[in-house]
Amino acid sequence: MLSEADVIWMDGALVPWADARVHVLTHGLHYGTGVLEGTRVYPTPDGPSVFRLDDHLDRLVTSARIVGFTVPYSAAQLRAATLELVAANGHDACYVRHLVYLGYGSMGIDTRSCPVNVSIASWEGAPHVGGRDEGARLMVSSWRRNDPNVVPPAAKATGPYLNSVLARAEANAAGYDEAVLLSSTGQVSECSTENVVVVRGGALTTPSPSAGVLEGITLDTVRRLAADLGLPFRHGDVVRSDLYAADEVFLCGTAAEIMPVRSVDDREIGAPGPITRKLRDALAEAVHGRDTRHRDWLTAVA
Ligand code: PMP
Repeated sequence: MLSEADVIWMDGALVPWADARVHVLTHGLHYGTGVLEGTRVYPTPDGPSVFRLDDHLDRLVTSARIVGFTVPYSAAQLRAATLELVAANGHDACYVRHLVYLGYGSMGIDTRSCPVNVSIASWEGAPHVGGRDEGARLMVSSWRRNDPNVVPPAAKATGPYLNSVLARAEANAAGYDEAVLLSSTGQVSECSTENVVVVRGGALTTPSPSAGVLEGITLDTVRRLAADLGLPFRHGDVVRSDLYAADEVFLCGTAAEIMPVRSVDDREIGAPGPITRKLRDALAEAVHGRDTRHRDWLTAVA
């Protein structure tokens, strides 16, 4: 269950949580016409701070551009609205969900006369991710990842998440924590809501964007933390057997943070490995503002 907060930002105003409603003929509800972001706030020595807020807002605007929406607010306005919301809700640590969606006003597939609505919500905690601490058990899904020429995975858009929902539900029903989706050409792409990183011989590889991958902000954080630690990091082709043969595999995402993988298709990888643990510790230092090299990733709420 969500832990309810006091207010939600809707189209320029803070409204009480219970009043943050939309009409049943909202376009985005019928056709999945929306783009979204999930961002986190952590306690830091400077008080509650949003992790990589500007990068999340940049990606929101880019997602909107990919799907052809014009966001009716500037990134600066969305930034100010986010900080106002988190301060109003008095959170010390929370998850923030930005949503830009086609609203109520016309029905049918034609989007030209639809209003573009924007909401920002925050609540304590983060979406549940199974296997987060002890290591996730993955299965390769029978569902393929959205193909970039069918619906672009580079946009964090609402409708395409049905692909993730199908894969995650299949994995959970079969007793696994999470699903790995292969691209239409058979390469590993990503999980339902996390990027995948394979560690072998001390080097990190993550699937190339051409495999149908969201450019994860946590993944970019991992890339930079790996550089701090002198660990090679590259994008490349990853196939299913690379997961089975890996020394370590971990997932990364805003909700999952860095999540070790215990097994893939019942091939044991084992307890969280040394590189996964080092990066997990480095991420914890960065998000909590204890690593002064990366203070620019944090925006203090007040
Ligand atoms: N891939 C998908 C499909 C996702 O939904 C997410 C979560 N936003 C990620 C990767 C990880 O992205 P981020 O690190 O920016 O949360």
